[in-house]
Amino acid sequence: MRIGKLGVFDLEAGRYAYVGSALNGLEARTRRHLTGQGKKRWHIDHLMAVAEEREALLIPSEVDIECSLAGRLRSLPGASEPITGFGSSDCRCRSHLFFLAPQAAARVKELFTPAGEGAERP
Ligand SMILES: [Zn+2]
Repeated sequence: MRIGKLGVFDLEAGRYAYVGSALNGLEARTRRHLTGQGKKRWHIDHLMAVAEEREALLIPSEVDIECSLAGRLRSLPGASEPITGFGSSDCRCRSHLFFLAPQAAARVKELFTPAGEGAERP
């Protein structure tokens, strides 16, 4: 599939995780991404347009934690970065998109949820 100006990629079927930020309008931006519709403005829009299932985890923050969250995904055993530059054109990360092998996919939520805590966040 074509990902904007990045080029054309042959992506493996499976689960992917993407980290993005919306300093204004987090919920509206997320809602837009979850529909998979609309103009393809960001790299993730191309992937969302063909995704069979979509899920978002919103992490409100006063500071920009996008790259550190991407770093957590990067360190997950079974995570890989199939497209250099995806979602990371304005930072120094290799990518903000991660392909998740089954063992990595199973651990994504615990990675962002403090132990013993449900949906509530401090
Ligand atoms: Zn980054």
